Amino acid sequence: MLPAPFAYPTKPHCRRHGPQCYPSHRHYRNWLRDEFSFRCIYCLRREEWLTLSADFEIDHFLPKSGHPDAEKDYDNLVYACNRCNRTKAAKYLPDPQSVAYGLSLAVDANGEIRALNQEGENLIDALGLDDADYTLMRRRILETLSEAQTGGKTLRWLLGYPDSLPDLSIEPKPKSNQRPRGVSDSHFERRERRLLPDYY
Ligand SMILES: [Zn+2]
Repeated sequence: MLPAPFAYPTKPHCRRHGPQCYPSHRHYRNWLRDEFSFRCIYCLRREEWLTLSADFEIDHFLPKSGHPDAEKDYDNLVYACNRCNRTKAAKYLPDPQSVAYGLSLAVDANGEIRALNQEGENLIDALGLDDADYTLMRRRILETLSEAQTGGKTLRWLLGYPDSLPDLSIEPKPKSNQRPRGVSDSHFERRERRLLPDYY
């Protein structure tokens, strides 16, 4: 049974990493890529489906405008595609660290998204996740997946991890790390130990 690429997590997100006090946002990028499994937390688009790393951005979950103190707080940063990040802007959304998006949102086989509760409705409304282009993107990915061959390149592209997983042990050292053990649990380290599945 292959993983479903548009199945949102069924548990609230529990942070694996905790770097703090970097001088700028770009230092958090690889930590966040690993933290959120190389995909947009809001629409689940994956890095591998896009061609440029610039298509993904760091989102301040609590907007900078109302929460300047949280601007460089790792726990307030999430990884998002540029479309979702732009649409979200300074809006307040259900927090993925307390709300399981998978209990709030469901995607049908034809790419349509449905809200399962009020939080799901809020997410769809705020981000426009039911806009025609999001639905078409999901439908195309799901159609391509249904025709992909076992072990083939297409399947690896759709469901595999990036080849260049970040080695967090050689990132510039943060001033502090609230969850240092996360490094040994990173995707890179798990692949080194042959514990990373082929597909997710
Ligand atoms: Zn997105």
